[in-house]
Amino acid sequence: MLVLDLNNLFAMDTETIVIRIKTPLGDMDSAVDCPSLLNFDDLLVSLHNARELTTCTQFEFDNFDEVGDRITVRSDEELKAMLSYYFNTMNEQRMNGLLPDPLQIFPRAGKTPGIRNIHGLKVPISIIVSAALHREQGERREGVKLSTIIVHLCLQINAQDIHYQEQLGHGNGGTVYKAYHLLGKRVLAVKVIPLDITVELQKQIMSELEILYKCDSPYIITFFSAFFVENRISICTEFMDGGSLDVFKRIPEHVLGRIAVAVVKGLTYLWSLKILHRDVKPSNMLVNTRGQVKLCDFGVSTQLVNSIAKTYVGTNAYMAPERISGEQYGIHADVWSVGISFMEPLQLLQCIVDEDPPVLPVGQFSEKFVHFITQCMRRQPKERPAPNNLMDHSFIIQFNDGNAEVVSMWVCRCLEERRAQHAQGHV
Ligand code: ATP
Ligand code: MG
Repeated sequence: MLVLDLNNLFAMDTETIVIRIKTPLGDMDSAVDCPSLLNFDDLLVSLHNARELTTCTQFEFDNFDEVGDRITVRSDEELKAMLSYYFNTMNEQRMNGLLPDPLQIFPRAGKTPGIRNIHGLKVPISIIVSAALHREQGERREGVKLSTIIVHLCLQINAQDIHYQEQLGHGNGGTVYKAYHLLGKRVLAVKVIPLDITVELQKQIMSELEILYKCDSPYIITFFSAFFVENRISICTEFMDGGSLDVFKRIPEHVLGRIAVAVVKGLTYLWSLKILHRDVKPSNMLVNTRGQVKLCDFGVSTQLVNSIAKTYVGTNAYMAPERISGEQYGIHADVWSVGISFMEPLQLLQCIVDEDPPVLPVGQFSEKFVHFITQCMRRQPKERPAPNNLMDHSFIIQFNDGNAEVVSMWVCRCLEERRAQHAQGHV
């Protein structure tokens, strides 16, 4: 019998826990912030999907005390008791100098204790999936990252479930399409990259991409799935309806400031996971009409980067001088690329490896902005701001007010102007 330990309630509000869902297909890990706000029905939705379309009405979890003994959870009360028990176990493991094990749960089909579905019908999985996705699309309940659980579990995307729509763009590596995921009922961006590589290298890429499931930041594009079909890899991510920054002309400073804040936060998050972006540039900064700004195309898979590099043509104007000259590089190379990304194309042309960093014309931009750019583009990598210093820069502080409305309104207006120009025939 499990009892709710009130002392644990506080810990539940501040901890992030990892729930490991054990399924016949393998384990699925999911990070949950603020677990005290997690509820039984939401978790069941995730479990339905994790079990690949089979019904699930309850789950069991491992009782670490008694080997082989599992405890069944069928209600919110039992869920709370399980979390409380888990927190005790976590604390004990920590006191013994161990890293806490994830909370392992085993989905089970079984009799529902109450009437969960008032019509007494089995809910078709597609409805469950779309209900889960609706919730994921914004209505995060007071800090619970339900999105993490739901998205990672229900979007097992297969090639045959994707309906390709328009082409969004074409880069050096591949082509990006807007697509519709029939099962998940949502729009995706799918990047298709042709790669002539061995099956072993394909497997290596797939395992290197796995870290993307763990990336969970509002400033990083959500990764859903990746798969190979013949010699092409398809990488499915969240679709951003504003597209990338490279197509926007003359971004006003108060908008650019908020975008810069998001970019710095996104990079700081990646760096905290020991991931260098390696390809910071306006076409890899995406915006949407909700005013969100997210980074994409960061180099988590060395093998993928190497395989694409073999077919790469041209130079990258956003690359730090130390990278162009083939020296070792680190976080500071990303910082350079941040600086140069926020410069006007005109000044960009000036930026040649052997010259001094370009300077923005006085009067057009605020002093803080010019200082920020100049600092990011110091020739010596060590002289550029480190992650903490970037967040503390007065330009970033000034615009770090969480005002997504500013970006949202600007994106909407630009899209509207673009549509009007389109309609008049001058694209
Ligand atoms: P490179 O290949 O040199 O990195 P790139 O970033 O322009 O250049 P891609 O990454 O292939 O090339 O992207 C092509 C275009 O697709 C981007 O410029 C962007 O406009 C669009 N795009 C990419 N991802 C998304 C997304 N998730 N949502 C909406 N549009 C996207
Ligand atoms: Mg890109």
